[in-house]
Amino acid sequence: MTAGRVLSGTGASDGIAIGPAHLLVPPVVVVEREISRDLVPSEVARLVAAVASTDEQLALLSVGLEAGHLHEGHLLLEAHRMMLRDDQIVGAARRLIESDEIAAEWAVRRVIDAIAATFGRMEDPYLRERGADIEAIGDRLLRTLLGLPEVLANHAPAPGTIGVGSILSPIDALHLPRSGMVGFAAERGGKTSHASIILRALEIPFVVGVRGLIAAVHPGGRLVVDGSLGDVIVNPDGDTIALYEQRRGRQRSRLEALKSRVTGPAASRDGVRIELSANIEAPSEVSGALEFGAESVGLFRTELLYLDRPELPSEEEQFQDAVAVLTALGGRTATFRTLDIGGEKLPLAVAVPGGANPSLGVRAMRFAFRRPDIFRTQLRALYRASAVGPLRIMFPLISGISELDEAQRLCAATAKELAREGAAFDRNLPIGVMIETPSAALSTDHLAESSSFFSIGTNDLIQYTFAADRENEDVAHLYHPLHPAILRLLKSAIDGASGARKPISICGDMAGDPAFTWVLLGLGLRSLSMSPRLIPAVRSIISASRLDEMEALAAHALTLRSETAVEDLVLGVMRERFPLELASAESRPISSS
Ligand code: PEP
Ligand code: MG
Repeated sequence: MTAGRVLSGTGASDGIAIGPAHLLVPPVVVVEREISRDLVPSEVARLVAAVASTDEQLALLSVGLEAGHLHEGHLLLEAHRMMLRDDQIVGAARRLIESDEIAAEWAVRRVIDAIAATFGRMEDPYLRERGADIEAIGDRLLRTLLGLPEVLANHAPAPGTIGVGSILSPIDALHLPRSGMVGFAAERGGKTSHASIILRALEIPFVVGVRGLIAAVHPGGRLVVDGSLGDVIVNPDGDTIALYEQRRGRQRSRLEALKSRVTGPAASRDGVRIELSANIEAPSEVSGALEFGAESVGLFRTELLYLDRPELPSEEEQFQDAVAVLTALGGRTATFRTLDIGGEKLPLAVAVPGGANPSLGVRAMRFAFRRPDIFRTQLRALYRASAVGPLRIMFPLISGISELDEAQRLCAATAKELAREGAAFDRNLPIGVMIETPSAALSTDHLAESSSFFSIGTNDLIQYTFAADRENEDVAHLYHPLHPAILRLLKSAIDGASGARKPISICGDMAGDPAFTWVLLGLGLRSLSMSPRLIPAVRSIISASRLDEMEALAAHALTLRSETAVEDLVLGVMRERFPLELASAESRPISSS
């Protein structure tokens, strides 16, 4: 049916993008190497020699362009030469080598990332472009330092193009769409990676896990990225493009149709109230979330303020960010998750120890405990914002009661400090816990003693239950939300919370997959938080269903012994009853991707 080569992967962000391919050049990977004091002078000499050699390369290229009457290119390279010699790069890198006793390439990487991020945040598009220039210079200097081959192509992305690469980092996912790129495809990465989550929030189609992608794609060649079905079509003909344009139109009208059904709070046919909330990462997303029918913000991921910049965000900035969310919500509740960095989410401003298994290492609360200064600044900002509107705080990746007690102790100290200063804040601010580890899911009853509420983060809960990295497509076949073990863990968490009369919600991607709505509500959940555009389909299912049929399906699912048996049962029922809703969510269920 489709002319062009079809490559299959996993749909990570819905929708269809059509455009020319832009190959994303992998950034130079720098090992964070420390050096001994006596090696500092020779490391500085290495830096100086590399700068001189890079300057020579640029001079040669520049002369060639001038001779070829490519005057603009010549001017650009001359500007690059000036930037290269600027004290802000060479001088800053030299000072870092001397003060921190680190290798030249690590110093250069830190300096370049810091400058580029500052440019990247500027309002003026011209100045933002200069950030890309700095990165290009840094890339060339690093290649010289490390003796790597040169990348010749000018790789600044153009608007309307589709980014193709090996893997997309969360920072790429944030930055690249700003240059107008309309879709992405990558050889590696998972549906629940943070890059995927960010692109879903930005509503930019994305397909991950496409084997052989880079070899099959030519820069500038036409591509279709179908983020709903997880396909990439290389060199489609005119008819194929027309077909995908029609499909794109149909998908949009289905979503509009479901959106128009939004009226009042969500409830089942027999009157059981279900809270539907939004997962967002920036204040600007609140108004869209309300339009899709969100009643509140069930998960505000706070780490974006930390990822995208060379310095840590100040208390005031974090306070303003939270106030902006609460103000836009107009009296509805916002649940802020405290900093979840580490793993694949690495900030520029602080070093997070990687370890051999970063997702099992210093991440989320583990980082907060190592850097109580950073955590305290965030807590102060959130507590102060709680004076403006209903705000809840939630801790990520709590593995047991000792961590929870320690986190609560830090909260209490912050509240005491603010009270001493006479600052306004909510003295009864609810503090909750994310259930993201099997240990937490199995001890929710104990955690309930020190927690006001819970939210189940199934993206991580599934990864940690199956010991299958959510980023790694080689183990994606093990990632089964409907596996009997996950159902039991969900039930344990829900029963533990309900027994202690503490509210429990779910904010992992499972919550927004309409194929799972019956199972989740049937297991006892009454609150789901999801990517806003998924709310209309889930709400439509709820309003057409009775609680007893949902409970019966969940009870039946709990008796089955394999993930395939549960998937057959659940998907069979849901596809037959709700074809429009499952199609409008435009994704294969997570279980079959
Ligand atoms: C989760 O793990 O399900 C979750 C909601 O958190 P994140 O995806 O940000 O890790
Ligand atoms: Mg998580």
